[in-house]
Amino acid sequence: MRLLIRNVEVAGRVGLDVRIEGGRIAGIGARLAGAGPELDGRGGALIPGLCDHHIHLFALAARAESVSLEGVASPAAFAARIAEATASKPPGAWIRVLGYHEAMAGDLTRARLDALAPRHRLRVQHQTGSLWILNSLALAALGEGGDPPSLERDTGRIWRGDAWLRRRIGADPPPLAPVGARLAACGITALTDASVTTDDDAAARLAAAHRAGELPQRLTLMSGGALTAAADGAFAVGPLKVLLDDHALPEFDDFTDRIACARTWDRRVAVHCVTAAELALTLAAFTAAGAAPGDRIEHGGVIPPDAIGQLRDLGLTVVTQPAFVRERGDRYLRDVAPSDRVDLYRCASLTAAGVPVAASSDAPYASPDPWRGIAAAIDRRTADGAMLGADERVSPEAALALYLDDPAAPGRRPRRVEAGAPADLCLLKAPLRDVLAAPSAEFVAATIIGGAVVQ
Ligand SMILES: [Zn+2]
Repeated sequence: MRLLIRNVEVAGRVGLDVRIEGGRIAGIGARLAGAGPELDGRGGALIPGLCDHHIHLFALAARAESVSLEGVASPAAFAARIAEATASKPPGAWIRVLGYHEAMAGDLTRARLDALAPRHRLRVQHQTGSLWILNSLALAALGEGGDPPSLERDTGRIWRGDAWLRRRIGADPPPLAPVGARLAACGITALTDASVTTDDDAAARLAAAHRAGELPQRLTLMSGGALTAAADGAFAVGPLKVLLDDHALPEFDDFTDRIACARTWDRRVAVHCVTAAELALTLAAFTAAGAAPGDRIEHGGVIPPDAIGQLRDLGLTVVTQPAFVRERGDRYLRDVAPSDRVDLYRCASLTAAGVPVAASSDAPYASPDPWRGIAAAIDRRTADGAMLGADERVSPEAALALYLDDPAAPGRRPRRVEAGAPADLCLLKAPLRDVLAAPSAEFVAATIIGGAVVQ
């Protein structure tokens, strides 16, 4: 497969042509001889395709078929959104509501949901993704017996129950093609799915979507247990995911056993750390069990100053989500004491200390658009325009670079547009400096994966 991209800016040099052959960049230069199909770059920048280093693909696909709570800020607005959803579905139908937070209508229970939706099977997911609250008809539909320990039938709450709920509800998996197209439109050529629930069955479905071109991005899959790589390279096996929960932190020995287990599978370890307690436990576990380059802290939601040196000494990479500053920052400013705010979603202070940092969306828990994350990493502004962590701002080039690393080594192995590199590219409609002055997916002109134009 051949392609000649004409008149692009590469690493600050303008007026270049880039020749692609056999899925790789074969040459870069001025006025290269043409042979085969051509793409006019119109002077725009050609950069490596973006990587989302932490995303949840099935959950993102499911979001399209769910009720969103975006914009809900009061009990009345929450009740109105549920009423709207129940009015559009026949009695007995399932209604899935996503993105709940206590700031909307306080603690939810089965009884409160029964009052709002007495005739539908209602389930509401907390914004963190870790908790579902179900009403009585939904609970009854799951059947009796075999309850996981994290299910409280009296309150209707279940923590980390996605896999069990999916089995009991028996719903078809949502289509992945819209997700693949949406991410390609943002210039994304590689994805790391960070779901702890991924098993061989889920991996096979993702691989099938990749082979069919529905999910054209290169895939790396984390999992909470053993996972076998696809023989044809449809996905690579990523780190073993360890999901911590302040609600139920694991025993220390169990944690270090998980790390040891990952080593026997020749895998790195990625640990979900949103709170300071989760991070402290994780640093202690890596200190005891040993860390290896490529082990990761997912989120790094709260990183106290004294943890930064430990992260560096252990060689851990932090995979952060800059868009949380934009999308949740106003709530952090209300809920988090001023003295603790400097610890939230650090970026510049980590890189300055020598801690490798990469970025991701954690979609659907934040927008999957990486350009929003780039904008937030640059300006650290909340949706209301307030500043959150001014000292954590990074340069526009550094913000983009958070999304450009090799998915096998986020924060540690930058990709470049150079001869011999895989032709996983993002063509922009303007020079890079102009794009980074107002980062937006609107600037993406084409997305190329393995030399094929997918968008
Ligand atoms: Zn996540």
